[in-house]
Parts: sequence; structure tokens; C-alpha cells
Amino acid sequence: MSECNHDCSNCKEKCDNSSLLAPANSCSKVGKVIAVVSGKGGVGKSSITSLLATKVNAMGFKTAILDADITGPSIPTAFGIKEQAYGMDGNIIPLESSKGIKIMSLNCLLDDPTQPVVWRGAMISNTVKQFWTDVAWGDVDYMFVDMPPGTGDVPLTVFQSLPIDGIVIATTPQELVGIIVAKAVKMAHLMNVPILALVENMSYYECPKCGEKLYVFGKSDLDKACKEYDIPLHGSVPIDTMLAKAMDAGTIEDYLNNYLDDIVKEIVK
Ligand code: ADP
Repeated sequence: MSECNHDCSNCKEKCDNSSLLAPANSCSKVGKVIAVVSGKGGVGKSSITSLLATKVNAMGFKTAILDADITGPSIPTAFGIKEQAYGMDGNIIPLESSKGIKIMSLNCLLDDPTQPVVWRGAMISNTVKQFWTDVAWGDVDYMFVDMPPGTGDVPLTVFQSLPIDGIVIATTPQELVGIIVAKAVKMAHLMNVPILALVENMSYYECPKCGEKLYVFGKSDLDKACKEYDIPLHGSVPIDTMLAKAMDAGTIEDYLNNYLDDIVKEIVK
């Protein structure tokens, strides 16, 4: 066997990928790990992660979010977290949202969260690994991982390091008709991780006066896409300024919606 460079995308060796998994922290007992991915940035991956985690938490499950989007961390802001994380006995203690979701993000460790993170891929991947190995997550039923965007080296390494049970793909109508979603699907297949659901964000705009749905970016066929990619569940989130405001104001846990209820019910079955 040639020397392993931890890049499975071009390797023909039949090895056990689990050897690349980072060991969990001795104070963590995490049930299911669900990664939220997108083919590119800015499609609403962090918003979908926040909505899913909020719903699962509201159902009474112990919930956590590992923010692996190191260069664009928006989870602490969405949940109104301004404090910095602290260490104890060599472990990092995750912060908690007002409703009890455990959160770890690079922004919880930086003195100045406006500081751009100009890091090479290996450093980003190692930081995510440390969020798994060095953070004392405690008892968690469902952990959502807000993955680095795209299908390149960094998300691939994160996939290999964390014990991911399933993925949710966040997309937009424009992406769905192109090749970007196909790439995310292929990455999941490459990593042998089941795709749980496809969520189309900014799917439509609902007129506040008459309730008519306007398909601003064109109407896509989610059903057809899910059949083509063999994805069991799908959901849609409309364009809603209240959602964007809640993400910015740190009040995403108070944003009332039922967009992803069907998906969540299946995920926690
Ligand atoms: P990503 O994690 O893919 O980079 P974000 O979830 O951070 O995307 O969303 C990017 C921006 O778009 C944020 O300002 C967010 O509030 C906004 N946004 C996301 N989804 C919606 C939506 N459905 N309606 C309105 N604004 C949205």
C-alpha cells in the first residue's frame, strides 16, 4: 500500500476510512452526527443548520451544533452568543444558547470575531478536528455540523475526521438545476455517508397580502431531483426577511416556522 496522504478522492487502495476518524473527547457521548453541506457558500447552509437544530432541541432532544464553517462562522451570531468559550482540565467547554443548544465555533474562541480567518486548508481541518477531540460536549443526542462550504479538500477532510451518520444538503433553486448539487451528492457517495434530505432554501416568496407563492428564482422540481439522486426526504424554506433578521439578531430560536418539520420527524425516528 502506498503512503496514505488522507486524500481518498484519487486513491484506489481499499482501506478502512475509519482509521482517519479523530477520537472523541473522553467527556463526550454524542448519539447521531448530522452534517449540513452545500455545494457552495451563501445558499443558507447555516440558516438550515440553525432551523434543524432548533426544531430537534424543541422536541426535547439534547442538541449541539459544531460550527465547522471556520472562515464564515455565523452560528454564534444566530443564537445570540457573544461570550467566549473557556477551558477546564484541558478541555474546551461549549457555550449554550438560551434554549440549551450546545455550540462550538471559532468565533467563540477569537478575541475579535471580525478578524478574517486567512488560514490554509490543513489548519482549518485541524481546528474542526479539535472541536471534536478537545471540546467536552457531554451528553448529546443529535449534533449538527455546519460544514465548510463546497466539495473541496476542507469538507472532504472534515468528512473523514468526524463520525458523520448522515447529511442534509442545503441548496437553492438555481443550484438545483445546475451541477453543484450533483457534486455534493457525489461527495457524499464517495464518503459512503447516507443523504437524509435535500432542502431547497429561498424556494419561493409568499406574498404577505394574498399568500400567493412567487417563484422568484424559477420553480424547480424537488421531487424529480430527489428521485434522480435517491434522496428520501425534501423540504423548502421560503425567502423571508424575518428569517434573515432572526439570524442577524441572535433570535433564531424564537423564529416560528414549520418548514422542516417533516424532515426532522424522520431524522429523529
Ligand atoms: P451559508 O451558511 O450557506 O453561507 P447563510 O445561512 O449564512 O448561508 O445565509 C446567507 C445569508 O442569506 C444570511 O444573511 C441569511 O440570513 C440569508 N438567508 C438565508 N436563507 C434565507 C431565507 N430563506 N430568506 C431570507 N434570507 C435568507
